[in-house]
Amino acid sequence: MLAEKKSPFRQSLVTPAQFTITLELVPSRGGHSREHDRTLDLAEKLARDPRIQAVSITENAGGHSALSPEILGREIQQMGLDVIVHFSSKDKNRNQMESLLFAWDRLGIRDLLVITGDYPQEGYQGFAKPVFDLGSVHVLDLISRMNRGNYGLGRDGISPTSFLMGVALSPFKRLEPELLMQYAKLHRKAAHGADYIITQVGYDARKFHELIQYVRQNGFNLPVLGNVFVPNLTVAALMHTGKIPGCIITDALYAEIRREADSPDKGKQARLLRGAKLLAILKGLGYAGAHLGGPGLTYDNIDFLLTTADSLAGNWQELVKEMGYWHRDGFYLYTKDAATGLNTTEPAPRDEKRAGLQINYRMARLVHNLAFTKEAPLYPACRKACLALEGGWLHSSLTHLEHVTKFLLFGCQNCGDCTLGDLAFACPQSGCAKYLLNGPCGGSRDGWCEVYPGKKRCLYVLIYERLAACGLPESMRKGFVPPRNWALNNTSSWLNFFLGLDHAGENQK
Ligand code: SF4
Repeated sequence: MLAEKKSPFRQSLVTPAQFTITLELVPSRGGHSREHDRTLDLAEKLARDPRIQAVSITENAGGHSALSPEILGREIQQMGLDVIVHFSSKDKNRNQMESLLFAWDRLGIRDLLVITGDYPQEGYQGFAKPVFDLGSVHVLDLISRMNRGNYGLGRDGISPTSFLMGVALSPFKRLEPELLMQYAKLHRKAAHGADYIITQVGYDARKFHELIQYVRQNGFNLPVLGNVFVPNLTVAALMHTGKIPGCIITDALYAEIRREADSPDKGKQARLLRGAKLLAILKGLGYAGAHLGGPGLTYDNIDFLLTTADSLAGNWQELVKEMGYWHRDGFYLYTKDAATGLNTTEPAPRDEKRAGLQINYRMARLVHNLAFTKEAPLYPACRKACLALEGGWLHSSLTHLEHVTKFLLFGCQNCGDCTLGDLAFACPQSGCAKYLLNGPCGGSRDGWCEVYPGKKRCLYVLIYERLAACGLPESMRKGFVPPRNWALNNTSSWLNFFLGLDHAGENQK
């Protein structure tokens, strides 16, 4: 897909000699704010600077509503600067997504960053409904089909689109299960049409090296842009305390930023210099580019970052030891290379005993494998019994029996399209705040769910532990769980399975 693209941003991504620079802009609240005018002023300067290939525009960042990104995007496009628009699944269902994509295609907004999105925050008269009808892997699949002009289900013949799809990836996960699940999800994203990667926010050279090495080792032909975010003290504090999901400022880095804030410029120059050093390291590591960001960055600040990074690039290896802001107990995927301060190609030891025996999971898997696959020994008898009850006076009793049993065991929400067998018997409808079916969002922190920190563990940490305990830690890399079919809501998933109505039944056809 990338090779066909012609815009400066797309061209730059496929030109190995070019180090692509993008800058993140956040639309303001309200369509006529001073902030909006300031953003346009900055964009005008960026449009005249050949070192900048595109700006990316967030969509309701942090879960707060703001001006629709395509509005700002169109104004900036008219200045001659390429625009990447963030496309998240938090506020819209699949039909609204398609409709919006048709509109953006018509407007010429075709470079996207496909993300799950932050959990919605307070809006008009209370908190907004978290939609998350699709996860990011589903959205990639949907747009890939739109790009092919081939939707399936008798909906072919719609003119093909030509969207470019970036995805986010975080190597900044403290625990082994969180990190491994991020990388596992990358496999699914790549298989469903991802064109390039932008990393999450963090300041650790070895972590950035880990990510690029993983991408190369696994043969992903995806350009990677490293995130160089320059926070102010307020934003650094929010990131340090986990108030901005997925963005990591460790204790040591935060302490340093606080010390720097005592200087007359409140530490701004020191933070910019750190950003420039990270930029130089990313170049040295062979990243395809960098994604700049930070509150209140001026054009002069951006010029400083780029110019200083260029002057430091020749000695980037010397900077590695300064850029080691990772948790003392944080997990790395590879062992440390003492000579460079980066990673060897040897995987780091995994904690195989962490998850215990997982007896409940093993039992559930055993029962599932006895009846709920086409090859299972009890499949014919169970199918016959369930079909005999279909439509009869015991039909609703079967539905209730299934729901009560599975509610007690798994917290079942009676979706009628059961994914327990796909996700190590962890129910995403009750266990994941974003109902994700193909891997975690980027928001977990120290193993806790982004939405319930300190109260509820991320569902995908649990899934990883169960799979790892059974020797299947890499199994989440493969496969695709289709989106929930709402036509089956509040029906018996057992019957739906044996009738071939649910996703598992469909897959067996
Ligand atoms: S359970 Fe995990 S994947 Fe789901 S919303 Fe919470 S952090 Fe994200």
